[in-house]
Amino acid sequence: MKITNIRTSILKAPLKNPFITSLRRVDSLEDLVLIVECDDGSVGYGEGAPTPVITGETMGSMIAAIEYIKPFILGLEIEDFNTILNNIHTRILKNTTAKSALEIALYDLKAKSSKQPLYKLLGGTQTKFRTDITISMGEIEKMISDSLDAVKLGYDTLKIKIGDNPQKDVERIIAIHDALDENITLRLDANQGWTAKESVTLLHALEKQDIIAEFIEQPVSADDIDGLKYIKERVQTPLLADESIFSVKDARRLLEMQAIDYVNIKLAKTAGITQAIELADVSKEFGVKCMIGCMLEGPISVAAGVHVASAKADVITMLDLDAVSLLASHPVNTSIVFNESEIILSENVGLGVTF
Ligand SMILES: [Mg+2]
Repeated sequence: MKITNIRTSILKAPLKNPFITSLRRVDSLEDLVLIVECDDGSVGYGEGAPTPVITGETMGSMIAAIEYIKPFILGLEIEDFNTILNNIHTRILKNTTAKSALEIALYDLKAKSSKQPLYKLLGGTQTKFRTDITISMGEIEKMISDSLDAVKLGYDTLKIKIGDNPQKDVERIIAIHDALDENITLRLDANQGWTAKESVTLLHALEKQDIIAEFIEQPVSADDIDGLKYIKERVQTPLLADESIFSVKDARRLLEMQAIDYVNIKLAKTAGITQAIELADVSKEFGVKCMIGCMLEGPISVAAGVHVASAKADVITMLDLDAVSLLASHPVNTSIVFNESEIILSENVGLGVTF
């Protein structure tokens, strides 16, 4: 199976509602689909969404990175997988989402060549999962009604986006908490919106009301490692690192410092599946559980995340793979059935992508 061509295509899909965090607002999805073709007619699909405020990539830079890598992998055999991966990751630095899209397509091909679903190739067995859903940041009444709507659709875990105003954030969380049944789990994501001191004050205010979220995600700047440690030492609410951890190296540093409780793995940060799996393994070494998350991205790359979740189900115990459910419509089928909070993996080979 020799790689003969790599094509790119832009996927556009409308959202049900605008996606609003402390870093950005998105009104419709636009991401990059990769089609890797082989000499035997096999085709592998990959995908990634540019998220400039997190990975520094744009649609233009992703396409340019793929074009740059292309000559280093055209003509190579899929069976020579490690050489291909090595060329992707050493010929150009960073560009993690572009590399992830490429890795996803190559793993799709590798699984197809061994005639099995990707999760089985990766050693997974679990085929049923539950994901949370994101509640966009906004006015309190709107956040409450969005939360109640999500619960009606069957979600029992909500990820609440906050981070633009610490005082308002406390009010939002208390109001949402009070409006929901006790059995609904809250995850809080401040997307780097607070300082370390604000985080402690705010979380103490919530804890005083007996509101202890499943975790607080990335309250401080990605590079504020000392801030994470400062918070962890002072609050009861578990601390999850997202933007602070792209690589295994980033994770090791935080885990050795005992600065966090959980790791958020995203393929767009880890430059694909290979390092995502390594990140799960390193977390396990430290006895730390992981969540697998996604950017606002499309069905192919979210499906790849589910396959990774299956492969590392012992350590990836939380899923934040709601991006497909946020889309009003899209033209792609994969091996995954996304039915609101339930995600079910089928036995289709590879990622099971059809258009
Ligand atoms: Mg996050």
